Amino acid sequence: MIFDKHNVEGETRVNVCGVTFGGSELIIIAGPCTVESRGQMLETALAVKEAGAKFLRGGAFKPRASPYSFQGLCSEGLAILAEAREKTGLPVVTEVLDTAQVAEVAAVADMLQVGSRNMHNTALLKAVGASGKAVLIKRGMSATLQEHLLAAEYVLNAGAREVVLCERGIRTFENALRFTLDLSAVPLLKERTWLPVLVDPSHATGRAALVPAMARAAVACGADGLMMEVHAHPDQALCDGEQSLSPEMFNKAIIELRAVAKAVGRIV
Ligand code: PEP
Ligand code: MN
Repeated sequence: MIFDKHNVEGETRVNVCGVTFGGSELIIIAGPCTVESRGQMLETALAVKEAGAKFLRGGAFKPRASPYSFQGLCSEGLAILAEAREKTGLPVVTEVLDTAQVAEVAAVADMLQVGSRNMHNTALLKAVGASGKAVLIKRGMSATLQEHLLAAEYVLNAGAREVVLCERGIRTFENALRFTLDLSAVPLLKERTWLPVLVDPSHATGRAALVPAMARAAVACGADGLMMEVHAHPDQALCDGEQSLSPEMFNKAIIELRAVAKAVGRIV
């Protein structure tokens, strides 16, 4: 397997637009769940950059549970993401839902995100792998780690080398939170693969108040970075407001993360 740690020698870091995943620096990807408007995206993007984020996120095409929920600004959202990149200098990761969208999303995004709901979509995995772009693969909410790694193998086998994994919580019997954050996935994945491993404590918990603590725990157990949802005004968010940090909370969370990072030989 290309993902296998024992098959590679030397450089196993993943470089995307000057941002290095898997080195001593932890990479924080932050931004709103969904691009809702130009003002919302730009305000949030500038705030996360100021607090230390190295990569911007924001969904233009959204995989919503209900067909009646806001589905994203689609192409208009991509144009706003491009403007946010221009204004902040931060590269952009955004989700691609369908093989038919890969070319359009790849024309704007620096990194393509395959979401939890699409991790098993092998046609999409092949298409993003052949797109020439970096790829972030979320763990399917009911996928084993082996299935997560094999999803990455589809992408690697299609030609991509800039590939990053992201643990985002799984479904268990516990229903107190949105998902159960499987932190043992981090050291387990890192035992087997050279691919960098990120953690998304926002979708994993579904509650903003728990995000900073789980972010610290993720860093303590060896995560190479974090994906966190931040909204300039979480109470007004059209999607995932309950789990979105305000810029103030995000700033505080990053400051608190620094001590943990230092303890495990990393920097933020
Ligand atoms: C997201 O990051 O926007 C998202 C929808 O996450 P997940 O695929 O992990 O649910
Ligand atoms: Mn979200």
